[in-house]
Amino acid sequence: MLTEKLLQVENLKISFSTGDSLLEVVSDVSFDIGHGKTVGIVGESGSGKSVSARSIMKLLENNAVVDEGSRIRFNGEELLEKTDREMRKIRGKDIGMIFQDPMSSLNPTMKIGKQISETIQIHEKASKKEAAARAKEIMHLVGIPDVDDRFNQYPHEFSGGMRQRIIIAIALACSPKLLIADEPTTALDVTIQAQILELLKDIQKKTGTSILLITHDFGVVANMCEDIVVMNKGRVVEKGSTMEIFNSPKEDYTKRLLAAIP
Ligand code: ADP
Ligand code: MG
Repeated sequence: MLTEKLLQVENLKISFSTGDSLLEVVSDVSFDIGHGKTVGIVGESGSGKSVSARSIMKLLENNAVVDEGSRIRFNGEELLEKTDREMRKIRGKDIGMIFQDPMSSLNPTMKIGKQISETIQIHEKASKKEAAARAKEIMHLVGIPDVDDRFNQYPHEFSGGMRQRIIIAIALACSPKLLIADEPTTALDVTIQAQILELLKDIQKKTGTSILLITHDFGVVANMCEDIVVMNKGRVVEKGSTMEIFNSPKEDYTKRLLAAIP
């Protein structure tokens, strides 16, 4: 089924219970992502970007309360109604994820080729040999050199930038329709950041995967995304095409973020 939008988030409202109080951290957030589009969510630290992203993947902590009026439709299906088991299938296969810290998402005791090929074997009916061949293709796609040798190395044998490429390879292993990248370059050196962003752009072009890119850095979304959602204190303060928002921001908050671009 091909719906008009790949992802539709409507009136997303999330609170956390701490002690005996309920604190609302995401309030009436709505945005959507078309097929093959790259959308950025930008906002200062604490604006509710990561909580919104985790809610799409159903990865919120136990103290989170998602309001009943919230809707998250992926390819026409309501994700908030999915069971944990169904969500596990969707994560990794239909929606890939990349987070800030490349080490926390990797298994330090497993060779990286195996980490990528196992992901493929878990979600697709591939033989070990087919999965390994596909893993090597993806390692090549994400720009890991000497794939045949590197396939049998462990995460600690890679630099931070290369580890982030491995994470991207795992996220792409099953050709997801959507890639959610939450501050994918924040922990990296500036030159490596630029390389990873170029890689994501290149992958978007080659595979047509939609990307939801989350960052506090306006420069990054302006460079990468067709549409931008600006968040502040749990709310969407402004959204539109990157051109519109970059050239004629309406809100003072957006203007301040723009002024902070180095
Ligand atoms: P951002 O990603 O935009 O920096 P977050 O989405 O991580 O912001 O956080 C939004 C708000 O929600 C912050 O005030 C944060 O402290 C709060 N928050 C996040 N996770 C939890 C949690 N598990 N329990 C309570 N508060 C949380
Ligand atoms: Mg965050």
